[in-house]
Amino acid sequence: ASPHVPVCQAASNKPSCKPAVFIPVDRSPEIQEARLKLPILAEEQVIMEAINENPIVIICGETGSGKTTQVPQFLYEAGYASSNGAIGITEPRRVAAVSMSQRVAKEMNLSHRVVSYQIRYEGNVTDETQIKFMTDGVLLKEIQKDFLLSKYKVVIIDEAHERSMYTDILIGLLSRIVPLREKKGLPLKLIIMSATLRVEDFTDNNRLFSVTPPVIQVDARQFPVTVHFNKKTPLDDYSGECFRKVCKIHRMLPSGGILVFLTGQAEVHALCRRLRKAFPFQKNNTAGNDDKEESVEEIRTFKKSRKRKKVMTLPKIDLDNYSVVPVDEGDEDRDAETDDDIAGSDIDLDLGDGDSEEDEKIDSSLPLYVLPLYSLLAPEKQAKVFRAPPPGTRLCVVATNVAETSLTIPGIKYVVDCGKVKKRFYDKITGVSSFRVTWISQASANQRAGRAGRTEPGHCYRLYSSAVFMDFEKFSAPEITKRPVEDLILQMKALNIEKVINFPFPTPPPTEALAAAEELLIALGALKEPPMTGRLKQQLAAKLSCPISPLGRIMATFPVAPRYAKMLALSRQHDCLPYAITIVSAMTVRELFEEFDRPAVSEEETAKLKGKKARLLQMQRIWAGQGSMQKLGDLMVMLGAVGACEYAGCTRKFCEENGLRYKAMLEIRRLRGQLTTAVNSVCTDAGLYVDPKMKPPTEAQATYLRQIVLAGLGDHVARRVQAEELLDDKWKNAYKTALLDDPVFIHPSSVLFKQLPEFVVYQEILETTKLYMKGVSVVEPEWIPALLPPYCHFGKPLENPPPSYCSETGRIRCHRPSVFYRVSWQLPAVEV
Ligand code: ADP
Ligand code: MG
Repeated sequence: ASPHVPVCQAASNKPSCKPAVFIPVDRSPEIQEARLKLPILAEEQVIMEAINENPIVIICGETGSGKTTQVPQFLYEAGYASSNGAIGITEPRRVAAVSMSQRVAKEMNLSHRVVSYQIRYEGNVTDETQIKFMTDGVLLKEIQKDFLLSKYKVVIIDEAHERSMYTDILIGLLSRIVPLREKKGLPLKLIIMSATLRVEDFTDNNRLFSVTPPVIQVDARQFPVTVHFNKKTPLDDYSGECFRKVCKIHRMLPSGGILVFLTGQAEVHALCRRLRKAFPFQKNNTAGNDDKEESVEEIRTFKKSRKRKKVMTLPKIDLDNYSVVPVDEGDEDRDAETDDDIAGSDIDLDLGDGDSEEDEKIDSSLPLYVLPLYSLLAPEKQAKVFRAPPPGTRLCVVATNVAETSLTIPGIKYVVDCGKVKKRFYDKITGVSSFRVTWISQASANQRAGRAGRTEPGHCYRLYSSAVFMDFEKFSAPEITKRPVEDLILQMKALNIEKVINFPFPTPPPTEALAAAEELLIALGALKEPPMTGRLKQQLAAKLSCPISPLGRIMATFPVAPRYAKMLALSRQHDCLPYAITIVSAMTVRELFEEFDRPAVSEEETAKLKGKKARLLQMQRIWAGQGSMQKLGDLMVMLGAVGACEYAGCTRKFCEENGLRYKAMLEIRRLRGQLTTAVNSVCTDAGLYVDPKMKPPTEAQATYLRQIVLAGLGDHVARRVQAEELLDDKWKNAYKTALLDDPVFIHPSSVLFKQLPEFVVYQEILETTKLYMKGVSVVEPEWIPALLPPYCHFGKPLENPPPSYCSETGRIRCHRPSVFYRVSWQLPAVEV
């Protein structure tokens, strides 16, 4: 039975808008041959007819069938791209946007000036660009500037099955843009591409499209994959189990690549090391250590200067050499979320376990060519998986989720699936986040298995039982239903979509999440407050349609979350801008510091990690500054680290020696450049000029910065519990927060961990073994009523406190932020 939907079904009776031209493409014979093997080639005519006849088309096809690389080429050849209208393709992952643009340019034998990419920090787009790969966030920002997307003739939303937040919003917006363009006589084609078949949210959704778009199913030439379940109930030590499985496959089964799915970067590296040790392969063993170098001299100078000038906590840096990028981008680092260095150590599983007999060298005639693959891996190293392994070896790729749908690795015959994925979980209301390793969905499990049958029949080894598999959810929930949406709501309000609740979301986010976002934005002053009359429910309804304020418009121009945007908007005072920009960049990039608490594979490594950790702690104390600067706490450490790193030339060596994540530092540098441009463009309108140079902040400036940060993180204030409030042991050294009823603690990695100030403001709460505050600085209590009036209640305590809210984990209970900072805090009397 063919799943094809007749394409004529939705055809309009308007004349076909098929361009009359055919643009020849000069492909090499090898590329031509490889293309012909792709299942999608057989469907070219069907696809192009559907696109010619319909404004919106959905294409479904297995991963690897050729959607991403071929559909843009079909369109190009059919004349859909020209100098005044490009083909835009959005990807939820940066990795995919970059690597796919390179691949398509190569296949078409065209330069990167014509087939380009744009991601948040970089791109190679030119005036000649005709095929543009970008992250979904980038296109969303472009819509803000030009709602009709007049630059594009075709927009392709790729990997729609991933249901990333921005993808969902783009589909909602485009469902309105397409008819508008039609009316203007400048038709825009929308193509939604998806790997799995869950397209009902797009097709059976009368809020979205007035005419159901045709769905084209690309039959993948998939070879049968035999799925083997584990008999036993799942093991906690899935890494060890992966190791044993790979060993067995390699020793006993015929040639063919192996692909292992694990959950994070540290796990991937640990397994790679273990496998390389078990099946040595000379050349390959050195991979991974090839990117050092830099001058010791610079660091020495830096140390000397520190000694001489004791007062100077921040070396002067030169911001002039930034490559400043245009501010029309805005994707966030979703790719990083599966990474261990972000996740912290609490959920890392013990990898260096005691399987000593298997760790020994195993005699094998065939060397194993082991490669890691995860999103933060440098692009050159990522590209290795696409090349054939050295002759006489077997390829074994140890990957995170990136190998599930975004990238297709050739030659894989065996898949080892641990059945887990690392995900960031947010609490709907409080935004408290935690990383958890959870079971994947059935759809993901099947995707993973499918990777084994691309070139010949394959095998998939699932390290869990079939009973467990049956308990997996069918699909994982769309991201928009899972995370805080305040950034999104602000962007939508800036597009003058006021009644966000009426927006045609493919799957609407929970109303509580929308309400929480709206409330936060009102408290930040980004939205105009509604007249507070009527009953609670009506108030809530009114709140969900607040228009944007002038401050909100400024905030929406900054490519950072609203809380941080507020900080930037405030920090023109007292010349705090360069510092605020740096702090915001550092907070946005997250995890500046290496994680040294990870499990090590050998004693030698344990000692090394310990030494590195001690060095980092020592540096952090230096970066924390002196005097009242220290009250800026972790944010001062961030500022000091960035300053020191820039002073040392932002080299990999400096970062490695001092426990900084090199990649994070480079991103901070880029983001600082980008935010400086953004601020400049806003401030030029206001007739102001921003000096990009940053001297060390004065103590007074450090104090202003604390206030600026407080103004942005108003609902993130915490107060240490007093002796008389110590109900039980679990409250020892704990803090009370505005959002939660449970005790929270300063994270042990914070420089304020031992100081326990009375009032603090935190960047975020991470739920691991306890609720921990990260990114902490000190707050003077009298600032609270002065700077955060929306959060303060100056009257008597309410008689009927508002209902408590209980989080999904059941661990977090809270009150709505707008009714906090009230009784229990006994704030100093202020005149209001
Ligand atoms: P889909 O989007 O349907 O998942 P793709 O268009 O991404 O499929 O992939 C089609 C084919 O192109 C796959 O066989 C894949 O291995 C190959 N391919 C993609 N990128 C590269 C690359 N950089 N080098 C070599 N082959 C690649
Ligand atoms: Mg694809």
